[in-house]
Amino acid sequence: MTMTRDKAIILIVDDEISNIEIMNATLEDEYEICFSTSGEQALQTARTVMPDLILLDIIMPGMDGFETCQELKRDPLLADVPVIFTTGLHDVEDEARGLALGAIDYVTKPIQAATLRIRVNNHIELKRLRDQLAEIAITDALTGLSNRRHMEQKLMTEASRLARTESWLSVIMLDIDFFKSFNDAYGHPAGDRCIAMVASALNRAVKRSSDLCARYGGEEFACILPDTAPDAAHQIAEDIRNQVVSLNIPHSHSAVQSYVTVSIGVASGICLPGTSPDMWTNLADQQLYKSKVNGRNQINGTIIAIG
Ligand code: GH3
Ligand code: MG
Ligand code: MG
Repeated sequence: MTMTRDKAIILIVDDEISNIEIMNATLEDEYEICFSTSGEQALQTARTVMPDLILLDIIMPGMDGFETCQELKRDPLLADVPVIFTTGLHDVEDEARGLALGAIDYVTKPIQAATLRIRVNNHIELKRLRDQLAEIAITDALTGLSNRRHMEQKLMTEASRLARTESWLSVIMLDIDFFKSFNDAYGHPAGDRCIAMVASALNRAVKRSSDLCARYGGEEFACILPDTAPDAAHQIAEDIRNQVVSLNIPHSHSAVQSYVTVSIGVASGICLPGTSPDMWTNLADQQLYKSKVNGRNQINGTIIAIG
């Protein structure tokens, strides 16, 4: 999860209201605070508000802090949310147990306002940096699209997810036509701007939140379209081609048009258990090659027959 909101959200979990009040008074100026009075309630609240940090009491009736922490770490959406245990126990074994469960820190009660504030500030700052790094690791810097690594990960998870319902998956690959001569004619910085503009055209054509657009290589892009049958995928490819044409970027050295165009390949297939998603990228690439040799600025597609 990325912290894009102004104020980070802290979830305080404690069965004693007076403890919540003390922590709330310490942190409410800087953070948005929500609270739960039990482990069970905390899990529910965490799933709805997606907090940036959780202050978690250990001894509570019902599900205790250790169990709650374990449940949080089991949930892929919540596993990265830092947990700080708060407890009256001064037992080193409990501290070790809490940290072993994946908690990031441990504060003892009675709460010292000044140190709690500093610890929370530090962990929130670390989380912010961690989120930024995670974002950078999956993003292509020039275009803001996903990078190839992220695209390949997404393709793996989508292919196995879609295999459970034997659903369609389509992959689009596209490549800017005569881009080497574009660079030669207008210079590398203009080439970079052109790549970024093609990426924006791609974003305009590929709209569903489950879709993913990536910069696959230099001037090559890929789109993953889950639950998308051949006709719909072809329509999206056509939209991409048109969006790039309407950018109307002059290209005096293109052999096909006076403006920048792309060649596109589409591969669609029904996902089945055990099928390798490489098939989609390889076949989309073959179709892209066909578009190149057949005259560029066009789309070719194939339906994958499995079995
Ligand atoms: P085709 O129509 O067959 O695709 O021809 P092409 O010239 O586009 O293909 P080729 O693969 O020969 O050349 C791709 C060019 O893209 C070469 C490379 O310098 C340029 N390129 C790759 N990455 C970048 C980049 O990040 N920025 C810029 N400006 N150019 C890049
Ligand atoms: Mg090219
Ligand atoms: Mg290329």
